[in-house]
Amino acid sequence: MKYLCIFSLAVSILACDTTDQTTQSPEKITARKKYALVIHGGISDPLTMSQEKLEAHEEGLREALRIGKKILEENGTGIDAVEQVIRYLEDHPEFNAGKGASLTTERKHELDASIMDGKTLGIGAITGVTTVRHPISLARRVMDSSKHVFFWNTGAEEFADRQSDLERVENDFFTTEEKKAALEEKMQETALSCITCGPETARDSFYGTVGVAALDSYGNLAAGTSTGGGTGKQHGRIGDSPVIGAATYANNHSCAISCTGKGEEFIRHTVSVQVSSLIRYQGLSLQAAVDTVLQQRLKPGDGGIIGVDKWGNTYLGYNTNGMFCGAADSDGLFEVRVK
Ligand code: ASP
Repeated sequence: MKYLCIFSLAVSILACDTTDQTTQSPEKITARKKYALVIHGGISDPLTMSQEKLEAHEEGLREALRIGKKILEENGTGIDAVEQVIRYLEDHPEFNAGKGASLTTERKHELDASIMDGKTLGIGAITGVTTVRHPISLARRVMDSSKHVFFWNTGAEEFADRQSDLERVENDFFTTEEKKAALEEKMQETALSCITCGPETARDSFYGTVGVAALDSYGNLAAGTSTGGGTGKQHGRIGDSPVIGAATYANNHSCAISCTGKGEEFIRHTVSVQVSSLIRYQGLSLQAAVDTVLQQRLKPGDGGIIGVDKWGNTYLGYNTNGMFCGAADSDGLFEVRVK
């Protein structure tokens, strides 16, 4: 009897998973691609950014895609592709993560990152980190080597102290002249006493967070996001980038997602997990799920969502003037957008 029960439980679990797939819309019942990858480098504003700036971002995104594509083509894992591509973008001064991160009102960098493995639902997140060169690798280390999933500021730094191979830097290593100028401009626009409650300025829209989502040749999904937050953010402010279910989510039953934009809104609407749930429980396609959340939950101008589903379909959606983003897959797709 006991075995019969276990057997019927197993059958119903399997039936449940099969239902997941048989209720897919026909466009999704295709052979899974060997791999697929999407990346973003934050919101862009092609109307106000110089051609030179757009090109610098475009080249950075191209190289990031090449790095990820190579890993996945050679049967590397999705989680490695996510980490390595984000490490590259963290070192790229044009993007607002790692080197080139935004400055807080106190002229410091407080970095956030998260990563998720769609096979195991393993997660790692860190927030308010000040001396770790590659915050995404610290997040990965939390996922791989800690019984906890989320570390804050000094606790995250102490956890990093125990990882001998994670590179550490002075906080001003992350500073670029451009980000200093952006902070000065914002400070002049807004009375310092109220910099964190003042109206949104043009500068606020250049967020520049980075994120990656990937499907690997083993059928596993992964996603990650890394950021310095917005220019002139208040000390201690935590956005959506390190929050699993807000900016980052991956689940082999549905999709892998990374988001960029107004972090408070992405937390409020648990954006990345909502996209996953619409796919998994309502049978929506990736594109329909992303568009539903962008149009029915978020407001115009809030941001963008990139994703790859379990079949290797990719989608880059946003309700802003533009988004730095790109997609590649094993069928030959290789596309970068800066508008
Ligand atoms: N979402 C990030 C934050 O609010 C910013 C961004 O995506 O550019 O910290």
